[in-house]
Amino acid sequence: MNVDALADLIRGRRPCVALTGAGISTESGIPDFRSPNGIWARYDPMEYATIDAFLDDPVKVWDFYGRRLQVLGDAEPNDGHVALAELEERGWVHAVVTQNIDRLHERAGTRTLVEVHGSIRTSSCLDCGTVVPLADVVELLPVPPCPACGRVLKPDVVMFGELLPAAQIAHAEQLACDAGVLLVVGSSLEVYPVAGLPLQTLANGGAVAIVNHGSTPFDTRATVVIDGGAGETLRALADRLE
Ligand SMILES: [Zn+2]
Repeated sequence: MNVDALADLIRGRRPCVALTGAGISTESGIPDFRSPNGIWARYDPMEYATIDAFLDDPVKVWDFYGRRLQVLGDAEPNDGHVALAELEERGWVHAVVTQNIDRLHERAGTRTLVEVHGSIRTSSCLDCGTVVPLADVVELLPVPPCPACGRVLKPDVVMFGELLPAAQIAHAEQLACDAGVLLVVGSSLEVYPVAGLPLQTLANGGAVAIVNHGSTPFDTRATVVIDGGAGETLRALADRLE
């Protein structure tokens, strides 16, 4: 069975670094926004999710983002998030690099977490730099102003047209280079620069394993490929790596 092969791979090639995408959070009720039924099928990302849209009309973008926060706030970590936190606790997983902004890894107990697309954890003022935690932002909806200067806050998630946070990307690249195994979970590896991380692992002699519904461009170069759900697969993996 493939989960046995995955467990053997991780046993033989620590440290394992997990790279997670939207697919690990769909089981928590957060739809993959790139899927045909996802949020960008109904809302034009150019109108709601670019930095230019935000700068032009922050009220419109917050109307959309506030509703997203509600969905994300109601979601709970699932077996996949919990299993990764357990594997870190036991020393099998060294770190989690995620494209998700939903905080579910943190809430499941993951300690070394690199969020390359930012997080809903805070919003910031582009004028004076004040940082406001999520709980306070929610109180200030629908259009949260900076408590210091009054300008509309910007969510600390990476919008289309913005650069990814350099320190997080550098950390993710270092982890990918040092990984004995890069365990990709719930990502179709189509969005750069994150999609380049498996190449860095392979170039440095590490192995790549993939747990995803559907194929990815790296399937042929991966040592183990499991076409399955994140929750069920990672639970089974954690049970084998006591
Ligand atoms: Zn301010």
